[in-house]
Amino acid sequence: MIFDAEALPDDWFDERRFDVCVIGSGPAGLTLARKLAAEGKRVALMEGGGTEISWDSEELYEGDTVGADYWPLTAARKRFFGGSSNCWSGVCLELDAHDFEKLPHHPWSGWPIAKTDLDPYREETDAILVLPPERAPPHTLFPNGTERFIQFDLRQSSGVLLGERYRDEIEASPNLELYLHANLVDLRLDDRLQRVTTGVFRRFERPEPFSVRADVFALCLGGLENPRFLLNASSQLPFGIGNQHDLVGRFFSEHPHQEVGTVLLAEPMRNREVYAPAPDFIKQAEILNIALLCTPETRQYALPNELVRSAACRADFLRRLTEALHGMPLVCSEGGIQAYFEQWRQPEQMLTARLDIAAEQALNPSSRVRLGEETDRFGQRRIALDWRFSEIDFHTVRTAALAFGRLLAERDVGRLKLADWLLDESGAFPGPDEARAGGPHHMCTTRMSDDPRRGVVDRNCRVHGMDNLYIGGSSVFATGGHANPTYTIVQLALRLADHLAITA
Ligand SMILES: Cc1cc2nc3c(=O)[nH]c(=O)nc-3n(C[C@H](O)[C@H](O)[C@H](O)COP(=O)(O)OP(=O)(O)OC[C@H]3O[C@@H](n4cnc5c(N)ncnc54)[C@H](O)[C@@H]3O)c2cc1C
Repeated sequence: MIFDAEALPDDWFDERRFDVCVIGSGPAGLTLARKLAAEGKRVALMEGGGTEISWDSEELYEGDTVGADYWPLTAARKRFFGGSSNCWSGVCLELDAHDFEKLPHHPWSGWPIAKTDLDPYREETDAILVLPPERAPPHTLFPNGTERFIQFDLRQSSGVLLGERYRDEIEASPNLELYLHANLVDLRLDDRLQRVTTGVFRRFERPEPFSVRADVFALCLGGLENPRFLLNASSQLPFGIGNQHDLVGRFFSEHPHQEVGTVLLAEPMRNREVYAPAPDFIKQAEILNIALLCTPETRQYALPNELVRSAACRADFLRRLTEALHGMPLVCSEGGIQAYFEQWRQPEQMLTARLDIAAEQALNPSSRVRLGEETDRFGQRRIALDWRFSEIDFHTVRTAALAFGRLLAERDVGRLKLADWLLDESGAFPGPDEARAGGPHHMCTTRMSDDPRRGVVDRNCRVHGMDNLYIGGSSVFATGGHANPTYTIVQLALRLADHLAITA
C-alpha cells in the first residue's frame, strides 16, 4: 500500500506498530522492505521524496565540498522514491573474493564477512536488478590470458528504475506500507540510550512532526546521508548515534574514474575489454584493486548489425525485441548505417583505444563526511564533504597502468602512451580544473567491523551499541574494491532481511 504522509489524519500512527521501519527507498531500502514483507513481517517503508523528482526534496541534499573537487552533492544522487536508481547507469559487478581479505599494506582493510556470505544471494540479486546471464569475456587482446591481470565482463541492468519497477507490487502488498514525503529528522532512544523506540518524521506542507513506532529500524538513506543523519541525531547523544568512537562519516571512499592513456594497437579491437590485477600482483606490488577499461576509440560497425540497429531504433517495438534477443539495452545513439559508412573515412582511429581506470581508494580516516554550519529547512546540518586521497591511491593507478602497458608491449599487442598527469612528479590525481570524477559511489562512511573501534556496524549491519538499529547501503562497505556498488548493496540488503526475518 502507498500513502502520502502529507494527507494522513493526525492520529494515523497512534495505533500502528511495525515489525520493521525501513527508511529510504533506494536499492537498499526497497530490497530490504520487499523481502521482509514477503517473509510476513509488517513493514513501514518511509521515503522523504515523492514518486517524482521535486526541488523541495532534492534541495535537502545540497551541501559543501571542502576537500578534493567533487560533483555537486545534488547531482551525485537523487532524493525520491527509488533513490539514485532513478539516475544510475545500471552497470553491475560483484566484489572479488580478495576484496574481503586483509592486506598487509592497507591497514584498515578486511571485512568481517567473506564473499561466500554474499554468494547465496546472487540469483535473487540478478532477478531484482534484471541482469543478463554472466558471459565469459572474449580474450582478444591476450588470447592466452595473463598472470598479472584477470579479464572480466561488466553486466548491464535492464530494469534500472527500481521504484517504477516495484511500485505496483508495493501498492498491492498487504504487509508493506510505503509512506511518501516522510523525512526522517530524529530517532528517539530508550532510557538506556541503546534502543530506538520511535522515528520522528517531517513533511514539506505541514509543520508538525509525526512519530512511527517499530521493533527494528533500518537506515537506508544512501552513503552520504546515513552518516549525516547519525551525526545530526544528537538530541540524546551529543556526538550522534553510533559515534562513540568518532567513526561515523570517516573513511569516505569513491572510485576515482580517470583516463590514463592511449593505446596504439597492432590489430583493431572490436569491443571494450576490462581487466583487474590478480591477487598475487596486488600483494607483490603493494597496490589496491583497480579496473582498467580498454575501449576502442571507434567501434567497428558491421553492415548487418547496423542495418538491424537502424531499423530497431526507429520503432519502440523493434527496439524492445532486439533488447530481448540480446539481453541488454540497445543504445540508439551509437552505430547505425551512418556510423557504418563513417568508419571507413577514419581508418586510423580503429587502431587506437582509450585506457580508463575505476580505482579502489585506501581507507583514510581523514576522508570524511562532516557536518557544516548551515542547516536545511528541517534544522538538519548540511554535509561538508572532505574527500581525500592517500599516496597508495596514486601508486595503484600508476603501477597498474605501467604494468598493463608493459604487457601490451611484451605481447606485441600495442603500445601505451601514458597520460601526462601519471608521469608528473607531484604524484597526484589531476585537478582542480579536471574534476576528480567518482562513480558517484559513496562508500565506507559507517563501515563494517566486529570491533567497535574500527567500524560503526557489526557483521550483521547492526550499529554497535544499539539493540535494534541497522544500516543498509554502501556506507557499510568495509572497503570499496573497484566494483560498482549497487550489486553488493542489494546482496547485503537480502542478507540483512534474512537476519531480521529470524531476529525481528
Ligand atoms: C549518475 C549516477 C550513476 C550511477 N551509476 C551506477 C552504476 O552504473 N552502477 C552502480 O552499481 N551504481 C551506480 N550508481 C550508484 C547507485 O545509484 C547507488 O549505489 C545506489 O543507488 C545506492 O543505493 P541506496 O539505496 O543505498 O541509496 P540511494 O539510492 O541514495 O537511496 C536513498 C533513499 O533514501 C531517501 N532519503 C534520504 N534521506 C532521507 C530522509 N532523511 N528521510 C527519508 N528518506 C530519505 C532518498 O530519497 C532515497 O530514496 C550511480 C549513481 C549516480 C548518481
